[in-house]
Parts: sequence; C-alpha cells; structure tokens
Amino acid sequence: MSETRYIFVTGGVTSSLGKGILASSLAKLLQARGYSVTIQKLDPYINVDPGTLNPYEHGECYVTNDGAETDLDLGHYERFLNVPTSQANNVTTGRIYQSVINKERRGDYLGKTVQIIPHITDEIKRKIKFLGTKQKYDIVVTEIGGTVGDIESLPYIETVRQLKWELGNRALVIHLTLVPYLAASGELKTKPTQHSVKALLEAGVQPDVLVLRTERDLDISLRRKVALFCNVELDAVVQSIDVKTIYEVPNKMKEEKLDTTVLRKMGLPLKDEPELKAWNEFLDRLKNPKWEIEIGLVGKYVELADSYKSICEALIHAGSENCCRVKLRMIHSESITAENVDKKLEGLKGIIIAPGFGHRGIEGKIETARYVRENNIPFFGICLGMQIAVIEFARNVLHMADADSTEMNEKTSFPVIDLMEEQKGITEKGGTMRLGSYKCKIIDKKSNIYKAYEKTEVKERHRHRYEFNDQYLAEFEEAGMKAVGLNPDTNLVEVIEIPSLKWFVGVQFHPEYSSTVLTPHPLFVAFVKASIGA
Ligand code: GLN
Repeated sequence: MSETRYIFVTGGVTSSLGKGILASSLAKLLQARGYSVTIQKLDPYINVDPGTLNPYEHGECYVTNDGAETDLDLGHYERFLNVPTSQANNVTTGRIYQSVINKERRGDYLGKTVQIIPHITDEIKRKIKFLGTKQKYDIVVTEIGGTVGDIESLPYIETVRQLKWELGNRALVIHLTLVPYLAASGELKTKPTQHSVKALLEAGVQPDVLVLRTERDLDISLRRKVALFCNVELDAVVQSIDVKTIYEVPNKMKEEKLDTTVLRKMGLPLKDEPELKAWNEFLDRLKNPKWEIEIGLVGKYVELADSYKSICEALIHAGSENCCRVKLRMIHSESITAENVDKKLEGLKGIIIAPGFGHRGIEGKIETARYVRENNIPFFGICLGMQIAVIEFARNVLHMADADSTEMNEKTSFPVIDLMEEQKGITEKGGTMRLGSYKCKIIDKKSNIYKAYEKTEVKERHRHRYEFNDQYLAEFEEAGMKAVGLNPDTNLVEVIEIPSLKWFVGVQFHPEYSSTVLTPHPLFVAFVKASIGA
C-alpha cells in the first residue's frame, strides 16, 4: 500500500467508555478486510510505564513478548487482532519526557530552549509515525488515553492537530462520547457530546467521526442533531450500544458501517467484506454453551476485575473452546483461613491462584493450595500461584515448617523460592524483573502440559523476580511434585505438576497474556476441560 494512514481515537464526557475496545474493534474490521493494522496507546500519566502502578489504580500490567510492561489495553489489541504488540505500542508521558530530557542532557538541542511545542510534540509524533514508517503497517490506530479537556492530554491533542494538518486525509480522528439516558424525562441527551466536541475544537481538532456510547438505540433525528451541531457527516455519527460481551463490538461496528466510513474518508479502497467466520463461531459457542462451571480465582486485588483482566479473558476464550460458560468467583486471599477454606471454595470445579507481589494475603493462598491438593481439584497456579503451590508442598508434604519465598521471609530456613542470581543487587523497581518471552522445554511427555501444548518447546512471557530454588528439586520430585518444564538455557524450573492428581499445574510464566479469541491458550483450554470433567 502507498502510505500509512493514521487513525486517532479520543474520548470525551467520561473515562471508561471503552476506547480500547472501540480501537480494537475497528482495527479488527480493517484487518478482516485485508489491511495490516496495529494499535498503539498513548498514556498521559508520568510513570515511565505502568509496571510500578498498583493494579487497584490502573488494572493489570500487561507484558509484551519483548518485555515491555504496558497498559492493559494492549491485551485487548492482541486478543482482537491476534498479532503481538511491542514496547512501541505503548507510550507514556513519562517515557516521552525521559527521552526528551536525555537528548537535552546529551546536548542534542544545541542550546535551544526545550519546550512542549515543538520538542515534546515532535517526540510524540516520532513515536506515532515509527509504527507506520519503520514497522510498515498500512494503518496505525492510536488511542489517546484520558478524556479530552484533561490538562495531561493536551500535548497529545496538540500533536493530533499538527498531524491532521501535515497528513491531510491520511489522518482521521474518531471521538468517542456518551449519550446518557435520563430516566426522569425519558430522553437521550446529546449536550455532553456537543460540549466535548467543543473542547476538542478549542484545541484545534475537528473530529471526523463520532462514536456515541448509549444504552438505547439512537434514532435518525438524534443523529442528525449531533451531525449538525458537531460538523460531522450524518453517516459519521455512529452508535455503540451496550452489549453483553466486548467481542460483539466488531459486529456492531460493522452494522454501523464504521469501517467503510473510515476507509472512504481516508481515500482507501474497501477491499473485501470483513472475514469474520472464525470470530463469529467463537461468539456462537460463547452464547450457546453446553456446560456451565464455576471456577475460583484467588487473589488479593479481587475488588477490581481489571486487575486480572487477561486471566478473565483467557477463561472466556477457553470456555468458548470447550463450549462451556465459565462463571468466575473472585475470592480475596486475605479472607481465606484454615477454618473457612472449604466453605469459601465450596462448589468450585477448578481453582486458579493468581499472580502477585508482596506478602499480603499469602497465608490464604497457601491454605487454598493445600485444599486443592488434598481434595484433588483441578488447579492452575500462575507465577506467584505456582510459587505458592511449591511453598505449600514444602511445608505440608516435605515438613519444612517455615518454608517460604525469600520475597516473603528472608530468614526462612527453607528458601524454596529464591531471588534469581541476576536480580540480586538490583535496587530499582521499574523494568528490572525477568520480563518478556523465554523458551520453556517440556521434558515429560506424560505431563498435562505436554498433552495441552503437544510440543516439546514453547515460548511464554514472564514477569517476576523469584524462582524455584533447584537445590530442593530432588526432594520435591521424590515426594511427588515434578518439574515438567525447564528453561533450556538456564535450567530454571518453569512448570511444576503433581502427576498423581487430576490436573495440578503451576507455571512460572503468564500464559494469560498470549490467549486470543482465535488462538485460545492451550493451558487454559486444558484447565477448563479438566474442570468440566471434575
Ligand atoms: N512476586 C513473585 C516474583 O516476583 C511473583 C510475581 C508474579 O506473580 N508476577 O517472583
């Protein structure tokens, strides 16, 4: 294709309207028409990446193959497009300023006053165009975090203004707003949208397309009114009605012809009708399940579902693959004790112990691991969840009374989980873990993971500092917990299983990050299958 096109998605009226899902759905339709598309998120906060953010504030930290700690929206991009993202797909204000300040310190600006315009905006432009010029995508969709009118988003909106001027119809702005329904007067209201577009216009940006989130269908007269007040064409006023699952949104956007409107405005051929056969089969299975089971997720950030976004989505993918509706019970690990564990976990067909950091809620997780082992309930331990299974086994089977991870207790007599050699001496927290994709060799063909992957070598993403301490490996194996996956380069234990149980698997990596609609993760598929059979 000739030259890359740039689509910007901005948000107005309120946050949490689903810019990420809208960007993903539009990108999905364009991809399904035969274009190569990628999505990028620009985050207005000053953290260099979300790796140091508490999940309560910003949801899960997503990790890419190349080891970038990113916003959770990148997870949606991968789940929808089935194409991996990288560091270049997530840029924060902190990262922009960091590189501008580094250049200033090196003297690159030759004595000039360094300013938001043009230095910060030029840096933002470089990060946007990089995906088009260097990675050669036909279309780059850039989602601007935050809401129009925020002080923090201003440099990004200013950059969009400049790019629209520079690129003409090769740049397009989609503004997502809310049309609330007022029950008292029985009316849908467009005023917040009008105000939001006004705020964009004040910053010099005229949106090309408006997508209106709504609980009820928007009729033609309301659409006309919005078109008139906001200077957009009638067919560029698109409704995004609430749906049961985010995976419905591409179809909804197709019904509204968002993809064709966007292509026409950018002067691109429509190509083929979107190919969504496999996608719709996935949806069909999701909506017409043969089974229903309840799975428990034991973690410490359960009040906010976004904290475990990728796990929740991976279970949906695996559920559909098994024609099963997976109901998720989120259980706070701090609420679990030896006395109440059976009550708390009653009725669950499978249990996941979630990833995590720090000692809060650890004892409840250890009680959970004991309960699933003793009751032979399908168990999936992810990262910290695997480490917990190891600690529990050490304490209750190997009689190492104070066995622990040195993350929780530096003075333990049995450091069965310990700091990795290369982590010792690191004091900085941001970006200093074992991050990104590493190989894992599956060494036991009778293992559950071999049956799931049907491969002897896989690659999975990591995000952790601690590891299984293989000094103790022989003792564990003798007592019945086996290392079935190893890192082929370092021999680090990546996967443990208890072969005498139905399905007891702990993985040091994060399989949830690479589960997508069209390629559900084999371990989640196998876990759900085992749970159905339980
Ligand atoms: N806190 C553990 C570690 O750093 C586990 C991390 C995780 O679950 N992502 O090794």
